[in-house]
Amino acid sequence: MTEHTISKSQYIKGLQCGKALWLYRHRKDLAPEITPEKQALFDTGHEIGELAMRYFGEGVEVTSEYWDVIGAVEATEQYIKAGHDTIFEATAVHPVNGCYSRIDILKRVEGSDEWDLIEVKSSTQVKDYHIDDMSFQYHVFYGAGYRIRKCFMMVINNEYVRNGEIDPQQLFRLEEISGHVFAKQGEVDAVAGQLGYILERKAEPEMSIGARCFKPFECDYKPYCWAHAPKYSVYDVFQKPRAEEIAKRYGLDIEGLPDHIRPGGAKGLDVESYLNGETIVDRANIAAFLGKIRYPLYFLDYETMMPAIPIFDGTRPFQQIPFQFSVHVQHSPGAELEHHEYLHKERTDPRQSFAERLIELCGSEGTVLVYNQAFEIARNNELARDLPEYAVAIQAINARVLDLLVPFKSRWLYHPNQNSSASIKAVLPAFTDLSYDDLEIGHGGEAMRQYGAFMSGDLNESLWPDLWNDLTEYCKQDTYAMAVLLDVLRKKINSESATNS
Ligand code: SF4
Repeated sequence: MTEHTISKSQYIKGLQCGKALWLYRHRKDLAPEITPEKQALFDTGHEIGELAMRYFGEGVEVTSEYWDVIGAVEATEQYIKAGHDTIFEATAVHPVNGCYSRIDILKRVEGSDEWDLIEVKSSTQVKDYHIDDMSFQYHVFYGAGYRIRKCFMMVINNEYVRNGEIDPQQLFRLEEISGHVFAKQGEVDAVAGQLGYILERKAEPEMSIGARCFKPFECDYKPYCWAHAPKYSVYDVFQKPRAEEIAKRYGLDIEGLPDHIRPGGAKGLDVESYLNGETIVDRANIAAFLGKIRYPLYFLDYETMMPAIPIFDGTRPFQQIPFQFSVHVQHSPGAELEHHEYLHKERTDPRQSFAERLIELCGSEGTVLVYNQAFEIARNNELARDLPEYAVAIQAINARVLDLLVPFKSRWLYHPNQNSSASIKAVLPAFTDLSYDDLEIGHGGEAMRQYGAFMSGDLNESLWPDLWNDLTEYCKQDTYAMAVLLDVLRKKINSESATNS
């Protein structure tokens, strides 16, 4: 048997960039650590794989270790000889280039010697790189002598609503992609050959950084290849393909941009602020924004979880489930902030208790200030849809929402250190001494991951008190930061030294 060389995931990595594949194989010292977030993704993928097996009912699974490719190929062939029609993790090796593939499901076309290839993905739509993934698998299985009839992606049906036990027949949907896969075979053949050649070389390939470093994923080796790049570069102010063209011509530095290349709109203001080192303050617009605020003032922020497989009845795959909010209340201008929160500490559907506490704590008048209103308003609309008894009260809260992101996103206030980001994590340290660096949970994704582990029963009970503490500190920080940023806006319009844009 030909020595096996490139796996499916390595092919996808190499398709993005040959150097990334070379580094993966030759520079183990640069291997990125498996973060808790990545581990959570693997775990979700595993859970979805198990449900996909239940979709097909009867079948046999190749269980060889991931490194035992030959063992997996032999087990697959034995299952076929024994007459099995559905083989999970079936494995083949291309006899010429040694590429190898483990397909999620190899399914015999009833009463024939033809097979269908089915790959399971934990997304709701077929993406371009899924086509590349399947094209590689087809290349391997076809090359290994299998007669393949059709290729399918098995993705999550986002219209499925859980009602009792998960129903795999409803949770998944099959999408045929055979035509795309057949059309890509010339490309797979050529790329597999090129990657084999790159891997044989002793020297690290010379590949310049560019748009490829971001698509389809941000490359694991970006810290290595981009070590020389400035923190704020042309890639922060232009779309990636355009930034690549500009960087080739004028370099990565913003300072090297000729006037006629500079972007317009908000990014143009960012560049100007960065180059002259001056804060932008648009007093008139800030004053108009502040004029909309009514007291008592509520600074509000939500944390949500988004399970791929719905946990609660009446919810869909990837539905955002709010489980925590923080609210700082200020009864009059300059008054002390009063903090309240809701954090759901039981492994049950949090939405009803969340909605009740929200309505109770947000009162009936005054502005509800959020940072990026699209998020909180959408969650409120979903709560109103799913809990109609609270719809009127929740819509009344939505009607009072004012978005603190607007002055920063609109560049009515912009600091040269923001690096073209209006995220609260960029704005807060630019204008104050506060930052998120000292918190155990430093961003919403981490809060979501840890809470998901609690909800699924994977977090040891002894760790729950720490989790409650960390979640409280994190969410509280967000609403406190909003109060601080509101003060910053007020002070800026009164500051004599500010630059009026
Ligand atoms: S960071 Fe960019 S250049 Fe470096 S390996 Fe990744 S894709 Fe290739």
